[in-house]
Amino acid sequence: MYFQWYPGHMTKAKRMMQENIKLVDLVIELVDARIPVSSRNPEIDKLGKNKARLILLNKSDLAEDKWNDSWAEYFKKRDYSVVKVNSKKGGGIKSIQGVIQEACREKTERDRKRGILNRPVRAMVVGIPNVGKSTFINALAGKACTKTGNKPGVTKGKQWIRLNKNVELLDTPGILWPKFEDQTVGLRLAFIGSIKEEILNVEELSMELIGFLKEFYPGILKGKYQIEEMEDNFLCLKEIAKSRHCLIKGSELDTEKAARLLLDDFRNGRLGKITLEFPYNYE
Ligand code: GDP
Repeated sequence: MYFQWYPGHMTKAKRMMQENIKLVDLVIELVDARIPVSSRNPEIDKLGKNKARLILLNKSDLAEDKWNDSWAEYFKKRDYSVVKVNSKKGGGIKSIQGVIQEACREKTERDRKRGILNRPVRAMVVGIPNVGKSTFINALAGKACTKTGNKPGVTKGKQWIRLNKNVELLDTPGILWPKFEDQTVGLRLAFIGSIKEEILNVEELSMELIGFLKEFYPGILKGKYQIEEMEDNFLCLKEIAKSRHCLIKGSELDTEKAARLLLDDFRNGRLGKITLEFPYNYE
């Protein structure tokens, strides 16, 4: 899903978020494990202040596990609960309900002291487009469960999905707007396919990715495409085009096709598990 953001969009997303956040005790924020900082919008910290906070490192199957662990530590140090998940395959999902209870323990305790017993914890899922919010909600609640909350025409009120007797989840996720003003952030969001490739053309984008991979994952391009990892990124792209027979009219190298092929291989995990940003740069 590609998203075009303009000020009207952002204002609406923000207003919805402000309204919905009032209704919940816990904010479940999905980030992309490959870019845990660039896939966030720091405004969520303001919007979600005084709420219990849970960060899910989603798509953890596409990122390097040692970095997933470092990122989990990074956020835990900053007072978030954290779980690594793979919403697509259900990895990490089982532990979520327990973690939700734990994250909301203070609130449950407060309720108990006031004589309020058994009021379920209410939670909502938030995150930038394409981070996996719907996939996660379905994995957590089960498809049938999500649908029963969606009776068209019956009510315009908020729909809650009852996960168990202690937890209710708002059925529509909150959409956070990505912050692509920062060039590096925009680039990383474009690498993972979360924003339109308009900030750069596809060949330039692929050359940026080639540059990153040569530096941080040396040998990975050689292993995948049997090419030499030369200094010049465009030459590398041409080598990929040669190796994968990306040709225009049977003779000229089609570097645009090679660029799409590389980006596609990366996004689908076919280059292996790759983390694009590292916690030591954000300490
Ligand atoms: P939303 O826009 O935040 O609701 O994102 P979606 O739930 O529509 O997911 C966007 C894409 O990411 C879909 O193609 C999903 O199949 C994929 N996806 C979601 N979670 C995961 C995950 O944990 N691992 C992988 N590999 N893909 C995922």
